[in-house]
Amino acid sequence: MKYFVTEDAIKKVKKKLEKSNIDYQIVKNIKDIYEIKDRAIIFTINKGKFLMPCPGTPKYICCGYYVLAPVENCPYNCSYCILNAYFNDRHIRIYVNTDDMIKEMEKITNAKQIKRIGTGEFSDSMFELGARIYAEPLLEFFNKNRNIYLELKTKGRNILECFLESKHKNIIFSWSINSKTVNEYEEKGTSAIDERINSAKMVISKGYPVSLHFNPIIEYEGWEKEYGEVIDLIFKQLDPQAIKWISLGTLRFIPKLKDIAESFHSETKIFDNEFILALDGKKRYFRKKRTEIYKIIYEMIRSHSKDVFVYLCMENDDVWFDVFKTRMNDKKLKGLMDDQLRK
Ligand code: SF4
Repeated sequence: MKYFVTEDAIKKVKKKLEKSNIDYQIVKNIKDIYEIKDRAIIFTINKGKFLMPCPGTPKYICCGYYVLAPVENCPYNCSYCILNAYFNDRHIRIYVNTDDMIKEMEKITNAKQIKRIGTGEFSDSMFELGARIYAEPLLEFFNKNRNIYLELKTKGRNILECFLESKHKNIIFSWSINSKTVNEYEEKGTSAIDERINSAKMVISKGYPVSLHFNPIIEYEGWEKEYGEVIDLIFKQLDPQAIKWISLGTLRFIPKLKDIAESFHSETKIFDNEFILALDGKKRYFRKKRTEIYKIIYEMIRSHSKDVFVYLCMENDDVWFDVFKTRMNDKKLKGLMDDQLRK
């Protein structure tokens, strides 16, 4: 892996890089490395925004949380990763102006409302090189703001020790979960599902809540059995009281992702299925199929726990109704999730 630092960032990061023995090259501008084919890591300054309300997806119900992006792009290689279509290149940008990041976050601390902020949308929250840059100021912020919760989402097994030293435990450790086959063939470089569940068990033993995201759920021959096995394992290993929520979301993608993904992962079969072009411009399984999948997985979860909170990620109200026999909207979903955090 090659490391670069842009000229404007060097002052802020020099000491840390030298302490970690990282051999880096200074470049004038981030554009100077766009042509490099292999994935590189760039320490640089974010001149845009760090924090934004989750863009959600038009016409679909959103849980109302904030996305924080101190790092863009991810060290893993999931075939379905939307970032491949979202960014123009695969280099990992680590933003070192964490002082600006905190200033932005301070703007949302006024109200007494519960807020949730996640760092796992534009990268993996436990990507160590990135977290080493921003973990300290971030923890300081969350230690001062106990009404604001940090959701750290990962597909890894390693948890940075410093995150386990939060004063108010307003950190939710969160894992993307999938079936064995999806994990093995579509999530290259990530840790195995049982390792993720073991890590969840470890953080629960330290008194932290966890959340689990079945996302994207992928249909293939034998999917029911394999998702069932993972759900059995979760409830065998984890105390349901410590699981704040489980989200379910079937595979969806913007149409251009298919070609991009297949250029990196020629062996993937996940796009060989029937999809509709949904109202938000993304391809999804047909509503009937999505509903069936959600119902089956929901029943599997309910066979282990009557209480654990389960929600649908970016689904419409009709699918919510079909699955849960209840109507849903953005505000109601946010309220239900806030209630989970008050428990
Ligand atoms: S872990 Fe998430 S961000 Fe990283 S490659 Fe996989 S889907 Fe993309």
